[in-house]
Amino acid sequence: MASKILVVDDEPQVERLILQLFRRQVRKKEYEFAFARNGKEALDMLEQDDDIEMVLSDLNMPEMDGLTFLARLKEAKPDMKAVIVSAYGDMKNIREAMNLGAFDFVTKPIEFEDLTTTIQKTLKEAEMVRQANFAKELEVMNEKLKELDRMKSRFFTNISHELRTPLTVISGMVDQLKKDPEAWLDKSVSMIKRNSENLLNLVNQILDLRKLETGQLELHFIQDNIILYLSYILESFHSLADQKNIKLLFESEQSELVMDYDPAKILRIVTNLLSNAIKFTPRGGTIWLKAGRRSNDLLIQVKDTGIGIPEDQLSSIFDRFYQVDTAHSRKGEGTGIGLAIVKEFVQLMEGEIWVESELNKGTTFNFALPIRQTSELKATEDKEAVAQKVKGMITKSADVEENHGPENLKEELPTLLIIEDNPDVRQYLMACLKGKYHLKVAEDGLQGEKIAISDIPDLIISDVMMPGKDGFELCESLKTDQRTSHIPFILLTAKADDESRLSGLKRGADAYLSKPFNEEELEIRIEKLLDNRRMLQQRYGSLENLSPTNDIAVQQEDEFIVSLRQAVLDNIDDENYGIPEICRDMALSRSQLHRKLKALTDKSTSHFIRSIRLQKAKELLQTTDLNVSEVAYEVGFRNPRYFSTTFSEEFGVSPNEIKK
Ligand code: ATP
Ligand code: MG
Repeated sequence: MASKILVVDDEPQVERLILQLFRRQVRKKEYEFAFARNGKEALDMLEQDDDIEMVLSDLNMPEMDGLTFLARLKEAKPDMKAVIVSAYGDMKNIREAMNLGAFDFVTKPIEFEDLTTTIQKTLKEAEMVRQANFAKELEVMNEKLKELDRMKSRFFTNISHELRTPLTVISGMVDQLKKDPEAWLDKSVSMIKRNSENLLNLVNQILDLRKLETGQLELHFIQDNIILYLSYILESFHSLADQKNIKLLFESEQSELVMDYDPAKILRIVTNLLSNAIKFTPRGGTIWLKAGRRSNDLLIQVKDTGIGIPEDQLSSIFDRFYQVDTAHSRKGEGTGIGLAIVKEFVQLMEGEIWVESELNKGTTFNFALPIRQTSELKATEDKEAVAQKVKGMITKSADVEENHGPENLKEELPTLLIIEDNPDVRQYLMACLKGKYHLKVAEDGLQGEKIAISDIPDLIISDVMMPGKDGFELCESLKTDQRTSHIPFILLTAKADDESRLSGLKRGADAYLSKPFNEEELEIRIEKLLDNRRMLQQRYGSLENLSPTNDIAVQQEDEFIVSLRQAVLDNIDDENYGIPEICRDMALSRSQLHRKLKALTDKSTSHFIRSIRLQKAKELLQTTDLNVSEVAYEVGFRNPRYFSTTFSEEFGVSPNEIKK
């Protein structure tokens, strides 16, 4: 393609001269020339014609002179290269032109050779600039695509979580039902029903999104009292809000406003906004639904006293799949399509939506709909029907928790800690494990961590996605805490990419189960991990030197045992060094130490301390000249007779026999 050059000159003979000089190049389609008589005309032409690659301009012209033109050109097309044509004597103007960004200059009378070289050079420069710009644009586009890709892949992982959780409950409860229909009929049927409704709701939202994308979503306006309708919707949220001890308030300047609206769309918008408000507002908060006239619009607001949204993320939250990741938000829960649908619906109804938020104070979503009265007058559903619809649209879980009070279980059965925020999944887990283990339950990561540290359970089963602290973080912190590092940890994963994250952890979980899992799978895992404990008990049973190991988990427990042993050895001749002293030195509570030691060595703390004393005694008897009484005092026994008895019990031989 010919390179297009704009020539700006008020003298008509210049046009003839240029065409004459470059006739061969024009014929061969190397160059194409366009002509303007002054700066203004040139700017107009440049505005309309994106193909112009460079400018050749005179300086002295009527209307808009060359220097003004150059200044304007710099603003309008900063990358355009301009070559000045001027008389040799006009050096001052040429300097000024160069300072205004002109690329080069030629002097009159125009010399063909010189001009050709200058044009070639300028075109080459223009081409380089174009390519650099193109590369920059590509990079920006590439970044955008990558971001979209990241959001999409997050959507898919979230969706898989949202699907797997109800599926775990459904398939799990079906198993229970099969095993013991009578005991499980009522409970499982309601859980299965609830969870399949959740699935259906999710599918409906995805379908809506799809329909919006392809422009298939239709509006069905009716004309009715929208204020009443809004109050019905809010009322349907009371039980959900009550569960979190959140106050719901309705505020409207007027009790009646008859206008056109699409009830299904309004329901979806307000339901999504209220669900979010409840989801992101801590217990004890307040949520308002407000409605009021604002000139020709109805302004509807959903205001909460929740966690708020960071300012830099406010502009993104209406994007499809976008979710704010903060320590407070329920990590990854939901799919990030709720607000995208809300925004599209509002726009479909020719309304506007915007958000105001302050971190840790609260968020207000506002949307305004034009007030019109042209549709058919028709009453919407009654309160009951609205409540029913809302029920179908919000993710539900069990509202009454199964009582997991004390049972008549044998004391020596292991204690399991279940950490899961979804009540239905929690119930299913408890149904699987009841009667076989002592069960402790936590509803989120932080609570789970507290219980794990205070109670030192024998095994932990934890969900990954939880508010506060997720399963990975919890696992990591418990595994690096000396008090809890030995506890086997099973992670319940639901996201497609959890497993890869899992393998990336230095000290990850001991096992993971992906949802949905069945009862048998769960039990096998638990039994196997509890069995592993026997291996450790053997390792620490003899108190002899520990054989080297590459297993960092075992190394960590070795360190604990070694430092415990050292603490006793450092005080071996002090008969008063007992449980309180060792707890103080190890910074553990009595029961923490007891439970950890029991798990690792199957010995009580006092038994463990005594074993170390006796081990040392055996060593002294074998390697020194000290007599039995002296050895007894040396290892902190006040009574040599008592020493001999316990020694014989521990090793099956008396100290005197060893001495021989
Ligand atoms: P979904 O609605 O698809 O189940 P979601 O609730 O995460 O998932 P959106 O409703 O689109 O998705 O919300 C996007 C994000 O905006 C949320 O993940 C959350 O980070 C933030 N957000 C929305 N509403 C609020 C609110 N009231 N307070 C604080 N953050 C909010
Ligand atoms: Mg939402």
